Amino acid sequence: MNIREIFFSYQGEGKYIGYSTLFIRFSGCNLNCFYCDTKEAKKVDPEDKKDVNEVLKIVDMFIKKYKPKFISLTGGEPLIQNESELINFLQKIEKYNTKVYLETNATLPNKLIKIIKFLDVISVNLKLSIDDVKNFDTFKLVKQSIDLCKKFNKEFFVKIVITKNYYNKKLIIKIKKLLTKTKPDFFILQPETTWFKKANKNIFFNLCNLYSQIKDKVASIHIIPQLHKTIWKIK
Ligand code: SF4
Repeated sequence: MNIREIFFSYQGEGKYIGYSTLFIRFSGCNLNCFYCDTKEAKKVDPEDKKDVNEVLKIVDMFIKKYKPKFISLTGGEPLIQNESELINFLQKIEKYNTKVYLETNATLPNKLIKIIKFLDVISVNLKLSIDDVKNFDTFKLVKQSIDLCKKFNKEFFVKIVITKNYYNKKLIIKIKKLLTKTKPDFFILQPETTWFKKANKNIFFNLCNLYSQIKDKVASIHIIPQLHKTIWKIK
């Protein structure tokens, strides 16, 4: 597996913000979002290559020391890892009875289905095509991933990073459609940290605009910034 770092901390974003978490940061990603906050993990370095048993030893040490509430598979994009190695790893960590939390861009439903039975919480990060360097339309694939979460009765929530860029009508219609079709219980608008720290007015406009337009489409909608980058000032 390609792993950049393993560390214990507290969840800095999303529904379970503040919960004790063992983070396993995989390297490599199939997307290239310009606002990526883990640029160092977007690409794979040769030193990232780790044997599953080597990773398990480190995980075991952290679990015994900190007894975290969650093990977070984050990145990069965890789902681009070698499938059999990832499954082997997930099987081996089942013994800890610690909730496994996947942070994913949800554009790889064919990979998600292979490991979904090992997951407890799935953070579906909707990457808007307007923001993506490759102009990759994520909506169809994200819908497929959400459908899988529902089919397998998995807890999930949806999160969108809101940047200072203008959100055009077409994009808002697509977001509304996705929410109408998938009806997530919990939906998060996460202001992009660089501009949020600069108190950029466009960020606030976009947050309020999107909030008001989609609030009727989901049971619970929240504006949650990244705690680790705004208050704790760590990665
Ligand atoms: S999907 Fe996530 S890790 Fe990949 S480039 Fe976008 S923000 Fe970065």
